[in-house]
Amino acid sequence: MTVICIKDSKERILVTCALPYVNNVPHIGNIAGSHLPADIFARFCRLAGYETVFIGGSDEHGTPIEVSAKKLGVSPKELTDLYYDVHKKIYEWLDISYDNFSRTSLKEHHKTTREFFQKVYDRGFITEGILRLPYCEHDRRVLPDRYVEGTCPKCGYDGARGDQCESCSTLLNPDELKSPRCVICGSSPVFKEVKHLFLNLDKLESGLEKWIKKNKGVWRPQVVNVALGWINEGLKPRCITRDIKWGVKVPLEGFEDRVFYVWFDAPIGYISSTKEWAKKIGKPDEWKKFWKEKDSKIFHFIGKDNIPFHTIFWPGMLMANGEYNLPSRVAGLQYLNYEGDKISKSRKWGIFCENLPEAGLGSDMWRYYLTLLIPEINDTQWKWKEFQERVNNELVANLGNFVYRTLSFIKNNFDGVVPEGKLLEEDWEVMENSKKKSSKLEVLMWDIHLRDAFRKVFAISDIGNKYFQSNEPWKHVKEQEDRAGTVLFVCANLCHDIAVLLSPFMPKSAREICNQLGVPPGSLGDVGTPKIKPGQRLNEVAPLFPKLKDEDIKRLKKITGNVTGYEDMFKKEDKKEKEDKRGKEGKEKVRVTFDEFKRFDFKTAVILEASALKNADKLLKLKIDVGGREKQVIAGIAKHYDVEGLIGKTVVVIDNLEPAVIRGEKSEGMVLAAVTGDTISLLTVDKDVKSGSKVT
Ligand SMILES: [Zn+2]
Ligand SMILES: [Zn+2]
Repeated sequence: MTVICIKDSKERILVTCALPYVNNVPHIGNIAGSHLPADIFARFCRLAGYETVFIGGSDEHGTPIEVSAKKLGVSPKELTDLYYDVHKKIYEWLDISYDNFSRTSLKEHHKTTREFFQKVYDRGFITEGILRLPYCEHDRRVLPDRYVEGTCPKCGYDGARGDQCESCSTLLNPDELKSPRCVICGSSPVFKEVKHLFLNLDKLESGLEKWIKKNKGVWRPQVVNVALGWINEGLKPRCITRDIKWGVKVPLEGFEDRVFYVWFDAPIGYISSTKEWAKKIGKPDEWKKFWKEKDSKIFHFIGKDNIPFHTIFWPGMLMANGEYNLPSRVAGLQYLNYEGDKISKSRKWGIFCENLPEAGLGSDMWRYYLTLLIPEINDTQWKWKEFQERVNNELVANLGNFVYRTLSFIKNNFDGVVPEGKLLEEDWEVMENSKKKSSKLEVLMWDIHLRDAFRKVFAISDIGNKYFQSNEPWKHVKEQEDRAGTVLFVCANLCHDIAVLLSPFMPKSAREICNQLGVPPGSLGDVGTPKIKPGQRLNEVAPLFPKLKDEDIKRLKKITGNVTGYEDMFKKEDKKEKEDKRGKEGKEKVRVTFDEFKRFDFKTAVILEASALKNADKLLKLKIDVGGREKQVIAGIAKHYDVEGLIGKTVVVIDNLEPAVIRGEKSEGMVLAAVTGDTISLLTVDKDVKSGSKVT
């Protein structure tokens, strides 16, 4: 085990977490794989008394966001605004203690990126090169990676993107796609040679190699091995520019219409987020201490897919720039899976964090099990059964039980006041033992073995439970009050030790223990010392954690597996409003591709029943027959049709519309109608056709 040296108390620590890409919402794998470990570590650094700043932010540029926004008919800013808020709320709810959570779309970041680039350029680490890229003559634009789709040359999948086939995961160049097409208009592109900028990683190779080898033995082998793998392959110049609009503009003549490739600008976000933090605290130069002074250490927490970026490209950029500190430690984490498979939003497989606040379980309960699952060395797996067992058998029965039994005993037998302790050698030994566990925890923490460190907290509550049990204070309390008092004095101090050491992992519970003890939060140096004095009056005492019953697990599973259609929000409401507006202003309509159109399943249907809907004077409830299947649809036609006149009518419906609940009634499709001013006219057919006929 190698411990990174943190001896000099002047040293300060910057902790970063990989900036999440905001075209999606976080699931538990993202939390256990970067935000939570980074937070635990940052909280520990603060607890140990180091000047610590923990920064993060959202990575908002790049083709995927520009393409998603285009498909939804909104601007990239509207899309990232929505997701930024969703992300920020989730991290706050989970008590991820970011000192600043920034955005790469902010001005400060654009400015920082351009200055960073300029320095790298001036120092001779940037060259021009030519790429052969698809160009759409209809849209008059280059089509970088996701802007072009076609058939995968490997597996034949028809939706392969210009950078990768999602079906077989093969990395692709756009010119490898068979029958490529523009994702905006569907026409086939021509190929053009386009000038781009490249970072000369080849010139940085020997410097990087030296730096990586110096960190061998400090970083995890899996991190060093990935990095050295890249070095052994030989580093080549890497393209840093893109032909899209959404991003940081390149400040170089001849490249004004390009932006930086997102891999180049995103890590600079660490610097701009620190700058933003410094401004917010009213000391605008404070960030320099962390990034430029020698007595600072930078810790990056990232997922394994990000290892090359943080051990090769990003340090390469820093070396090329020359102004900033290199990372001290790159903690590359593996993946958390879910019940035997990869977490997948499209397959609705996993726990999706936007649901956690509704689940009715405190954030520490999630943090508890997710800490046990931090994929430090190998991939790990969420299992509901194990979650229930660990909570009940360890969190409740061990730690929770020790604290509650100690404090309620003091409440019931000593009027809620911590008794005097006359400690014998064996009692001091218990305190000393707690101190030893704490020292072990510290060593493990600095080496980023957070799960093993967490075990030490439970080792202390274990010691406490055994001590309480073998000393039987309930027997002594009547005859030998002194002895019972001493045992409870020691136990109260162990509760305080637990609160201190628990605080990086489960901050709310740690605060709650201190609150019940009636003391402010302690520091690392308090552990193993009789910090809780005789005469200390306790506050209200209550169990810390709920037990989880089978039906709780069932309910939690249902709520947290829910996939929120954030993008549908744009489609249904915002986008409709905007389109209406655009229509009125006579501006361009949003185009749909033929593939998008094909996804709608239009069918003929016969209306079987119609009835008014309570408290909704515009809506009718319709029972319809679609080729022998009966469905219920809610339609806004009450003011335009009599109920009786509708029965037997053949109409056109969208059969595969996501079911919705409208005024408490399910609606399993949509009846199509033409709308002019105040007139609504249902679409129907002009020949006799079978119900359920396809409409194309
Ligand atoms: Zn493929
Ligand atoms: Zn096009």
